[in-house]
Amino acid sequence: LVPRLRPFTSTIFAEMTALAVRTGAVNLGQGFPDTDGPSGMLDAAKDALFGGANQYPPGPGRPELRAAISAHRARYGTHYDPDTEILVTAGATEAISASLLALTEQGDEVIVIEPYYDSYAAAVAMAGAARRVVSLVPDGDRFALDVDALRAAVTPATRAILVNSPHNPTGTVFTRAELTAIAEVCVEHDLVAITDEVYEHLVFDEHEHVPLATLPGMRERTVSISSAGKTFNCTGWKIGWVCSTPELVAAVKASKQFLTFVSGGPLQPAVAHALDHELDWVERLRTSLAAKRDRLSKGLTEAGFAVWPSAGTYFVCADVRPLGFTDAAELAWQLPERVGVAAVPVKVFTDHPDGWNHVLRFAFCKRDEVLDTAIERLHGLA
Ligand code: PMP
Ligand code: GLN
Repeated sequence: LVPRLRPFTSTIFAEMTALAVRTGAVNLGQGFPDTDGPSGMLDAAKDALFGGANQYPPGPGRPELRAAISAHRARYGTHYDPDTEILVTAGATEAISASLLALTEQGDEVIVIEPYYDSYAAAVAMAGAARRVVSLVPDGDRFALDVDALRAAVTPATRAILVNSPHNPTGTVFTRAELTAIAEVCVEHDLVAITDEVYEHLVFDEHEHVPLATLPGMRERTVSISSAGKTFNCTGWKIGWVCSTPELVAAVKASKQFLTFVSGGPLQPAVAHALDHELDWVERLRTSLAAKRDRLSKGLTEAGFAVWPSAGTYFVCADVRPLGFTDAAELAWQLPERVGVAAVPVKVFTDHPDGWNHVLRFAFCKRDEVLDTAIERLHGLA
C-alpha cells in the first residue's frame, strides 16, 4: 500500500459494526436506518428491475433522474440544467472523491472542517493533496465554525474547502452567518467549495438547511453534493449526485467515469420517482427522526451522559465524563461487551483529538424499541 493511503486501511464503521455483530450489541454506531424507504420507490425499483433497466445507464445518469434532481434543487431557488449541470454518482462518497480527484492534486491544500466524515481525509489523500483542518468549537450548546481559524487556514496553496452541513457527527446545522463567512473566504481566495448535503432534509425544529451555492458568488464555485441514502432510507443503494456549473460538472465527470463509469441502473428511476413523488414521506421521516433524537437524548441523559442538542442528521453526541470516563474511544471499544451497545468515538474523525477525547456519537435512526433497548442497557454503565 502506498504511504499516503496507509492511515486508511480500515473504517471505524466497518470495525464497530463487526464488533456489534460479534457481540450481539445494539448498533448505534454506524448510521443507517432499520426500516425501509417509501413503498412507491421500492415498487419503482422492482418495475425497473423487471422492466429491462439492467444495462449501463447513460454516463451522466438517467435523464429522468437528472430532471428530478434539477426540480428538487429548484426548491432552494437555484436552477441546474439537467443536461450539463448534473451528474449522477455512486453515492455522495464517489461524488466527493471524484470532485477532489478532478479539482485538486499534489501541492494543493484542501480545507476540511473537523470532526469530519471519514472519507474526506482518505479522498484528499487519494487526490495527492494535503488537508488543512479547522476545528469546530463549542459555542453555548452547539459546535460552531471558528471563522478566524478558517481564515487562518487559507494559504496560497488552498484550492478547495469541503463543507458538510447538516454536520456528521455533531448534528450542527451551519447558520446563514457561518455559511456567509465561508462564502466570503471562498470568493476572496478564489476557492472551490465542495458541499456534502446528504442530510439536507434531516433538519429539526427551527433550523434550516441553506445550500452554500445559494449565497452570493457561490453558484459558480460550488460543487453541491447530495444523495438518496439518507433522504429515502436506502443507504445501500448508493445513488448520489453533483450539481454545479457545466465546467465543474465536466471536470468531476472526467474522474467519475473512470472510477465506476456508471452504477445503480435500475435504482436510478426509483430515486427519480422518490424525488418527484415522495417528499411527503420524507417530511414524515423528518418528524419521526426529531422524536427519535429526543427519545435517545433523554435516555442518554438519564443514563448519565451529558448530551449536546442535535439540530439535524442521524446523530447525537454525548460527553462520557459525567459517568467517570475520560477516553470515549476506550469506552467505545468496551461498550459492546460491557453493556451490549455500539457507538462511535468522535476523535477518530479528527486530526486534533484533544478537544474530542470525551465525545461519543450515537445514531438515533432506529426503531423506538431498538433505541429503548439501547437506553436500558446503557443504564448499566452508571
Ligand atoms: N457524507 C456524510 C456526511 C455521511 O454521513 C455519509 C454517510 N452516509 C456520506 C457522505 C456517504 O453518502 P453515500 O452513502 O451517499 O455515499
Ligand atoms: N454515514 C454513516 C455514518 O456516519 C456510515 C457510512 C459508512 O459506513 N461508510 O455512520
